[in-house]
Amino acid sequence: MASNRDPLELASGLIRCPSVTPHEGGALDFLVQILEPAGFRCHRLPFSQSGTADVDNLYARIGTRAPHLSFAGHTDVVPVGDEASWTSPPFEASVLDGILTGRGSADMKGGIACFLAATLDYLEDHGGEIPGSISFLITGDEEGPAVNGTVKMIDWLKAQGEAVDHCLVGEPTNPEALGDAIKIGRRGSLTGELVITGIQGHVAYPEKAANPLAGAVSILNILNGHLLDEGSDHFDPSNLEVTSVDVGNSASNVIPARVAAKFNIRFNDRHSADSLKGWIAQIVEQELKGTALKSDIVYEFPSDCFVTEPGPLVDILRDSIDKVTGRRAELSTSGGTSDARFIKDICPVVEFGLVNKTIHQVDEHVEVADLYRLKDIYRLFLDGYFATIKT
Ligand SMILES: [Zn+2]
Repeated sequence: MASNRDPLELASGLIRCPSVTPHEGGALDFLVQILEPAGFRCHRLPFSQSGTADVDNLYARIGTRAPHLSFAGHTDVVPVGDEASWTSPPFEASVLDGILTGRGSADMKGGIACFLAATLDYLEDHGGEIPGSISFLITGDEEGPAVNGTVKMIDWLKAQGEAVDHCLVGEPTNPEALGDAIKIGRRGSLTGELVITGIQGHVAYPEKAANPLAGAVSILNILNGHLLDEGSDHFDPSNLEVTSVDVGNSASNVIPARVAAKFNIRFNDRHSADSLKGWIAQIVEQELKGTALKSDIVYEFPSDCFVTEPGPLVDILRDSIDKVTGRRAELSTSGGTSDARFIKDICPVVEFGLVNKTIHQVDEHVEVADLYRLKDIYRLFLDGYFATIKT
């Protein structure tokens, strides 16, 4: 039992499972073998969907009462890249000079190991009884298409009537050093393609043609130059980037028939995907009015923007980080998306884990000392959570 509470041994055990998405690689089995004897009710949740690989997931809960704190993470890892470039084999979990090297050490098997170790400590100190519930929501499909993982697990939780009160995501949130940043939200992302169709013709006879580029240039100029907002309490300003304009016209004497432009908007809580779509539709209509040009816009499925307003959950986590590292973590909403974007639909969610400097790289690594410090942070967080949060 003692070694089960050692975050380095747990992280090493997980890293030795070659769980490159969508392969389970033994990583979920590894967790079940520890969680079940500790009293967790474990549910393996394999999901499939045509056109995507089958994925295995794990939900494990101890306790039946509220408050229910869930720890969310993923055991899948990105491919190793050029294996010959690694200084030690990526699934060996080698420790040298206080550094643990291995694929997934930071993103995010290390984080899972730390929370598991902290939880087992907490349970032992409380004789296996807790004033609420703790669960692990572990997916094998975060680094992949993310369709057979957290989204479907949340649907399953709802169908089972499993209410979660708060969620801590163990993704590596610190850019440089442990204690840098807690993520309390993420900006939304909306990607679209605008296609404008005109009438092809000879450049010398423009009256017989309709140039779609004229419409595209004026529309993109307005979209690109518009100040969406100046930021909000927790977010940077929203931003639209035109990422591609394709005409495919190799002739200098031909007015083309069609232009396709792609753009992405990273937006804060002053907007929604629908409000932005409405704004763009209005600009397109206004600029093409009275012309022979036609338009069509296709959007990819958007990610919502969300923020967990600072309150007891954030305070408990921030104070725990402060006690262990002596640092006041920044409350950040920067960076790309994570599975927190799905979890926020069922409960408030915060993210804190290891240092993300080497994630997805060759020689991904973490400092062994950080594993022990993160375990201590999570342990203090558990103490504070169950002492403070009453539902
Ligand atoms: Zn990750």
